[in-house]
Amino acid sequence: MTDASNAPARLAAVRAALAKAERAAGRPEGDVGLVAVSKTFPAEDVAPVLEAGQRLFGENRVQEAKAKWPALRERFPGVELHLIGPLQSNKAAEAVALFDVIHTVDRPKIAQALAKEIAAQGRAPRLYVEVNVGGEAQKAGVLPEETDAFLARCRDEFGLTIEGLMCIPPFDEPPAPYFALLDKIARRNGLKGLSMGMSADFTDAVPFGATLVRVGSAIFGSRPKP
Ligand SMILES: *Cc1c(COP(=O)(O)O)cnc(C)c1O
Repeated sequence: MTDASNAPARLAAVRAALAKAERAAGRPEGDVGLVAVSKTFPAEDVAPVLEAGQRLFGENRVQEAKAKWPALRERFPGVELHLIGPLQSNKAAEAVALFDVIHTVDRPKIAQALAKEIAAQGRAPRLYVEVNVGGEAQKAGVLPEETDAFLARCRDEFGLTIEGLMCIPPFDEPPAPYFALLDKIARRNGLKGLSMGMSADFTDAVPFGATLVRVGSAIFGSRPKP
């Protein structure tokens, strides 16, 4: 049993909070894409959120998404599926086939594998480079000081179009300086997309220019502990 029975009501509350943050930041309503993070929740928990009109969803594992989403997509047209978890190069083919947006490009090997699959499949998911904004040893992502060079390599060496940057700030610190840092790196590289803000801080990310927020537990309830 999961805690997702209230998900449609919680989705409405998240939407209202997001709209309020957009107004407060002087941004048009609907400017920020809400990615509902459905990882670990079974299809029967996700369907009511689809019925409530939500269409952007995030998953962090390729295998889980592959098991869950093809059937849901048949029932609910217009789904946009986002990969927000770490990607292994041996899963690049499945990721390119399944996802519309990949948020976790974080090393040359992945960039190269994605470029190869995009060419082979003739299908190009929108791509985000993950930045390890806090420089944390245990976290994925390119270090802030190495991001400009990595973006240049994605473009020049692998021929990839990168839409924006993604980050997960250190969880025990105020996120605002990290949101500002991601915005600064994106601006100086001419990138428009900023994937930042989760359940605890998505409204804080809006004034810093978030274009996608990734919200899981505030919509679906708490996840079972791994
Ligand atoms: C799980 C996850 C989220 C959603 O987290 P919540 O705190 O439940 O909103 C967002 N982004 C990434 C990368 C995640 O892995």
